[in-house]
Amino acid sequence: MGLWLIIMKIKQASDLFATVENQAVVKHLNWIDAATDLPHAKGVYILAMQLSSEVTLDIGKLGAHTLPASIYFYVGSARGAGGLYSRVRRHWRNDESKAKRWHIDYLRTPMQMLGCWVAVDASDPIEECALAKLLASHPSLSTFVQVGSSDCRCASHVFYLSSA
Ligand SMILES: [Zn+2]
Repeated sequence: MGLWLIIMKIKQASDLFATVENQAVVKHLNWIDAATDLPHAKGVYILAMQLSSEVTLDIGKLGAHTLPASIYFYVGSARGAGGLYSRVRRHWRNDESKAKRWHIDYLRTPMQMLGCWVAVDASDPIEECALAKLLASHPSLSTFVQVGSSDCRCASHVFYLSSA
């Protein structure tokens, strides 16, 4: 499948998660493909990034891992000052001077940002671990090593398309 077809397909969160029962969560996710369109509100997000060819990366304390070429998804939350706008823009930016603060920063370097889904906090905010569980249960997604989940009980907050 060509890159463009994959992007067109994943833009529709309802399609990507069509087989998942929790549509109540999915309907709050909005696809954004320009960093300038990010909302300033607090909320949760799922980054979608493409890795064009297999690469072996040193991921900080996690050591060296080989990543297959695929589309990768990273689940996070932005509830600090600046909200989704500041946090996701930081992920979007990919210059070498950016400090490696989180494990996801190591993964970001060789990847191309396709866009992200965001869900702005409403009266009943979505928890990032609930989103991670949703992706973990998807039949087309594989779980990557423990990235983004050092503070919770999830196996990981990073997933990739099993057959991209
Ligand atoms: Zn978690």
